[in-house]
Amino acid sequence: MQPVNFRSFKKKLSLHRKSFRQFLNKTEKDTPRGINQLSASIEKEVWKEVDCLTCANCCKKMTPTFTKQDLNRISSHFGQTPDEFKKQWLKKDSNKDLVNKNQPCQFLNLKDNKCSIYEIRPIDCATFPHLSKKGWKLYAHVHKQNIDYCPATFKMVEKMVAHFNEIK
Ligand code: SF4
Ligand code: SF4
Repeated sequence: MQPVNFRSFKKKLSLHRKSFRQFLNKTEKDTPRGINQLSASIEKEVWKEVDCLTCANCCKKMTPTFTKQDLNRISSHFGQTPDEFKKQWLKKDSNKDLVNKNQPCQFLNLKDNKCSIYEIRPIDCATFPHLSKKGWKLYAHVHKQNIDYCPATFKMVEKMVAHFNEIK
């Protein structure tokens, strides 16, 4: 596994963002056969290469959505009611979803990039960045947002683009 190099990530992002977004748009509309199996195998390669503990950009620059179950579980861990927890840490976004007020996330330990509530973190955090969870067609629009922040997502799309260029 490699530490995340943000300088290189940002440089590559500025070079490839447009073409990667085009690839995501195209494959979302006209989904190639076998792409779900391919993304699952590429995801495994990505996680051999990316060390999230040298990154934590999702916890620093993005926010999870909190479900009712997340809210109940996490507030009770802190001995708070869901309303007390909401008032202290959360707000509603434009979709009326519950999200963090603060960035970086209040539960991120900035010294080691570890989540201080890892075992009970929101399900959105536990499944992020959703690289091959529910099929390419359903998640291509999510990858489109996440390539700007998440080096693992960027790497997966980079590998997918390389694969499709090779077999052209
Ligand atoms: S709850 Fe934990 S994993 Fe989720 S954003 Fe906050 S620090 Fe990151
Ligand atoms: S999931 Fe993406 S943004 Fe979050 S720590 Fe890992 S590489 Fe970084």
